[in-house]
This record gives sequence, C-alpha cells and structure tokens, in this order.
Amino acid sequence: MPYLTHPAELAQLFPGEAPYRSQQLYHWLYRRPTLSAASMTDLPPGMRKALTDRLWPFVVEVEQIADKGSTVKWLFRAPDGAAIEAVLMGYPGRTTLCISSQVGCALACSFCATGQFGFERHLQAGEIVAQVAYAGAYLREVGLSIGPDHLTNIVFMGMGEPLANYDRVRESIRRIVDDMEMSPRRLTVSTVGLVPGMQRLTEEPWQLNLAVSLHAADDELRNTLVPINRRYPLAEVEAAAAAYFGRKGRRVSIEWTLIDNVNDTIEQATKLASIAGRLGAHVNVIPLNPTPLSTDQPSRTAQIRAFVRHLRSLDINATIRDTRGSDIDAACGQLRAGRAASS
Ligand code: SAH
Repeated sequence: MPYLTHPAELAQLFPGEAPYRSQQLYHWLYRRPTLSAASMTDLPPGMRKALTDRLWPFVVEVEQIADKGSTVKWLFRAPDGAAIEAVLMGYPGRTTLCISSQVGCALACSFCATGQFGFERHLQAGEIVAQVAYAGAYLREVGLSIGPDHLTNIVFMGMGEPLANYDRVRESIRRIVDDMEMSPRRLTVSTVGLVPGMQRLTEEPWQLNLAVSLHAADDELRNTLVPINRRYPLAEVEAAAAAYFGRKGRRVSIEWTLIDNVNDTIEQATKLASIAGRLGAHVNVIPLNPTPLSTDQPSRTAQIRAFVRHLRSLDINATIRDTRGSDIDAACGQLRAGRAASS
C-alpha cells in the first residue's frame, strides 16, 4: 500500500532494494502516477510484481461516465469496506477533481445525502492523495472528452467535512503541493464553517482557496439547515472568513444550495449580499440535488434566476454551478444517493 506509506518512508516497503529504487517508486507515485504498476518499467520485476494489486489503497468498485465523456465518477472501496467517492470533470482548458475527505459526515446538513447517513470514519492522508493520483493517472492514460490531460484544479467538495479531519487533510495537501507539485492556488477547501479549522487554515503557509457553505444568511434559518451553526454562528463564520481573506488576499467564495421555498427568497438574497459585500466574496449558487431522505426540492428556474439577478443588482459576483453528473448521482451532495438506494 505505497500511498498509505509516508512519501519519505517508501524505502521501508522494500528493505532489500537499493535506496534509489524507492526514489524511482516515489517518482511513479507522485510525479507521474500510473493506473497499473506494470507501467513502472524501470523498476525490477520483483518490485513491480509486489506492487501489482497493492498499488491502490482501494479497488475501483464503480466507474461511471457521464455528460458525453466529460465527467467520470468513481466509487473506490477500501479493504475495510469504506466507500470513497470522487468525481472528475473536464472543461475547456481545465479539469477539476472533486475529492472526499471522510467516509460519511457527522454534521448532518438537512439537504446533504452524505450527512443524512452519518459518520463512518476519517480518510487517511494517503487515501485522499490516492484519489488525486488515480484521477491524474486516468487523465493521462484514458482521458476525458474535454479538457487537459492533467489535473488543473482540486476541490474538497466530495464526501465529508475537510476541516473536521484537519490533520490528515493538512498532510494530504502537503503531499499534493510538495510531492505532486501542484500549486495551492489550484486547491479549494470547502467547509460548512468550522471556525477553529478556518483559523488554523489561515495560519498555514498555503494560498489555498476557501469556500464557505453558507446556505442561509441569518442564524434562525441557518440553524435549521446546518445544525453546526448553533456552535459556530454566522457572525463567527463571517469573521473567520474575513480573517482568511485578510491574511491570504484570496477572495473567499460562498456556496449557497438553493432550496425551493426555503432559502431562495429575495429577503435572503438581500442579507446574503450584505455578507458577500463585506467579504468581497463570490457567490456560487448550487441548485439543490434532491436526496433520498428529504422532501426538499430545487428552486424553480425562474426563482434561481431572480435570486442571482438580485445578488448581481447589489453588485455581488454570483454564478450558478453546473450540475455535472446529476444523471449518475454524482452531483453535489448526492454522491451517496445511488448507494443508499441500492443498499
Ligand atoms: N463539508 C463541506 C464539503 C462537502 S459538501 C462543505 O459543507 O462545504 C460540498 C458542497 O455541496 C457544499 O456547499 C454543500 O452544501 C453542497 N451540497 C450538499 N448537498 C447538496 C445537495 N443535495 N444539493 C446541492 N448541493 C449540495
């Protein structure tokens, strides 16, 4: 399981081999990942054989292709049964990988499929990095119908709350930046608003993008959608986001899942515009993807447009997120849906 080994300790996996062999392996794992150890042509046959079936810390249980070959979703299965989902999306000029940081999630946001099924366990740093390596290898060896043949962006927007698994997520970012040599500016950490984690992230050396999942612009409504708001209310989340922007000089983005008759009113848009205006933040509106355990519905198209138009009229930069992968249960917050229905 080389991805579960610290990159500096790879030599321990092959104590009988010369030290430069572990450097070669390091190169294959982090600089030029391959889907199969058979491609690691400069390794001796014994090492290659030992790596066969053991290269990835999971098996690929499901690989689904959607949106005319521009989206692929994986359900990886770890040996302990944990399901790890990731979605790769190609666009003209960029490819974005959405990765998971936990199996399940403890935060129970009312409209999120992952949250509806509770928390199973944290992912290890190596399990997070392996999602990135696998997608990178897939892009080079198989490819999508649109976009570059390498990863340009990574978002922690799959299953789990990255800041609730802080140390392992931090180590995964360190490996992605130091070992895979991706710019931190290409990475986005999305959080429900865990204030202590946001404060720690502010102290890290990286120019990461921070996305904050707001969904409501007053505590009364937010308490009903995002239960953790009772612990870290809006004003504290906003202050932590402002501090991040102040330190990094990188504009924070606000995510807003739009739910019919819940948070799609002009009143909420007005309050949201005040917060976004103070933060200089961009607003990413996500039409709700319905989930199995909730009757919530997405806002109607006219209401989505009116909401965004109102934000823009108040000088807020707002965009509607595309719904890639909705036909394969891969859209935001939905990763768990297909499995839930079948299990
Ligand atoms: N826990 C982190 C990251 C994972 S969720 C966070 O909360 O930000 C990534 C984004 O998908 C969040 O903005 C989340 O609110 C949104 N999301 C969750 N469920 C959704 C659903 N059913 N429809 C649309 N967006 C959803």
